[in-house]
Amino acid sequence: MVPSTPAAARKPTTKPSPLAPRTEKTTVPKKAKPKKKPAHTGPAGSLLTTGGKGVALTFDDGPDPANTPALLKLLAKQHVKATFCLVGENVKRHPEMVRKIVAGGHTLCNHTWDHDLKLGKKKASAIRADMRRTNAAIRAAVPGAKIKYFRAPGGNFTPDIVKVAEELGMKSIYWKVDPRDWEHGREESDGAHTSRVINSVKNRTRAGAIVLSHDYAQPDTINAYRVLLPWLKSRFKLVPLP
Ligand SMILES: [Zn+2]
Repeated sequence: MVPSTPAAARKPTTKPSPLAPRTEKTTVPKKAKPKKKPAHTGPAGSLLTTGGKGVALTFDDGPDPANTPALLKLLAKQHVKATFCLVGENVKRHPEMVRKIVAGGHTLCNHTWDHDLKLGKKKASAIRADMRRTNAAIRAAVPGAKIKYFRAPGGNFTPDIVKVAEELGMKSIYWKVDPRDWEHGREESDGAHTSRVINSVKNRTRAGAIVLSHDYAQPDTINAYRVLLPWLKSRFKLVPLP
């Protein structure tokens, strides 16, 4: 392939040479460094990507006894490990589901006690109490469970919530791909909803992406992943967050 761009334009000169000839080149300075924030950083410094090439599937708001078992079965069949962002109240109601998730080799993530969308705006002490209560419920189900991640409901990360999560040993994870699987208007049939989720994930997923979906109350999402798992596996390495 013949590059159509002149080499000078393609290769940014990283250090200015004091000995550069006083001719044309110095008169065409590269534009100031593109002001881009690091690709891996989301709101308040939360993570958008896995940091490697692997793609991480994350499933939120469960556990849900009606849907989580079907998803776990599907993941096991496809030999895929994922990350589950658990809501404390649901953990308390269904501790056996948490044990199944852990037995399946999946990663756990704290998703607050009752999906409080405004937790990040509360006092640090309230944030800490919520996170601890949720972690305690998870560990009541699975003693010694590792909970290395936190996701604020709605992705509503604030510097405070990220800081408290870090104090408790949890990294804050946002997402890179959001198929909005929770959004299911009455005008959208189940089939159309499932197809929309499938197409959205197919079109947007790139190496390193963290993909957001929901196992709680979302049977269409599980159906979408019946199609998506083989498709994703043939293109990416699917990883649980480490
Ligand atoms: Zn959620």
